[in-house]
Amino acid sequence: MSINRRLFLQKSSLSALFSGLLVPSSGQLSIDKKKKNPNSLVGGPVLLSTWKQLKAHAAATPLLDSGASALDAVEACARVPEADPDDMSVGYGGLPDRDGRVTLDACIMDHNGNAGAVTYLEHIMHPVSVARAVMEKTPHVMLSGEGALRFALESGFQKENLLTEKAEKAWREWLKTAEYKPKVNIERHDTIGTVALDKAGNLSGACTTSGLSYKMNGRVGDSPIIGAGLYVDNEIGAACATGLGELVMKTLGAFLIVELMRQGYSPQAACEEAAQRIIKKQNYKEFQVGFLALSKKGEHGAYSLQKGFNYTLYQKSKNQVIEASSFLQ
Ligand code: ASP
Repeated sequence: MSINRRLFLQKSSLSALFSGLLVPSSGQLSIDKKKKNPNSLVGGPVLLSTWKQLKAHAAATPLLDSGASALDAVEACARVPEADPDDMSVGYGGLPDRDGRVTLDACIMDHNGNAGAVTYLEHIMHPVSVARAVMEKTPHVMLSGEGALRFALESGFQKENLLTEKAEKAWREWLKTAEYKPKVNIERHDTIGTVALDKAGNLSGACTTSGLSYKMNGRVGDSPIIGAGLYVDNEIGAACATGLGELVMKTLGAFLIVELMRQGYSPQAACEEAAQRIIKKQNYKEFQVGFLALSKKGEHGAYSLQKGFNYTLYQKSKNQVIEASSFLQ
């Protein structure tokens, strides 16, 4: 057990009543179901996104304020980093896989429980919009690779080169050693997962990423997997994830969080419990995962395995804020 973790557990046991984390005699953490994020405010509209997404929020919050649907807002939000060449974890400018190919994953889910996703999509700048087209125009939930590209082109999306000079240079540098080992926050986990509550009280969410940089060709992470990187249930709440997708996929993190909220967990407690599920079974110490949750009432929660996860929150009475998430170790 690392010193940090030990200290964390010690502190937790002393301040359990105050922090909301209870430590039974077995030493295993259990979660106070009602634990709230102290910063929580109730009510919509709300837009909540992984990482620092002020530019993306600036595009999406006027929509929410003017009464647009949460679905339109989350799509508008995700499209901003997708088109930003300086964001090297999403869309255009994303770091490629180890073969030098930019392969994109995205999904979207609406308040009616409809979902669309694309995986291993190349050459299309806005995979989130292709995912929405899959949801709205096909009888399927997910299209992948060549088929996803063909569908995108048939739907009017343009074929583009997404590998920027900067990303290619970084990849060529990486090729010199070609050593791949994911490290905490080193891959610039900037996947945007975003969930929203609109004025009508409806929830939607979206997630888009170029995945782990220098991943094996063909690798798909949690971000386009409904229930892993994103889940929305309009009766209960919505959740999304960022970080090492393999850890999230094996526990279906976003679905788990929404189901825990259904059982009465607050968004904060649900995110913490989802993190506990990961650490029970996985070697997590070197990896980062961050979860966000939003309840139907507009309360939010955030939690990560490691220090360093932050998120952007828009809530009418609070405007845009970047918050540091609480974390496990
Ligand atoms: N979750 C993404 C993936 O595993 C990566 C990230 O969040 O940066 O593909």
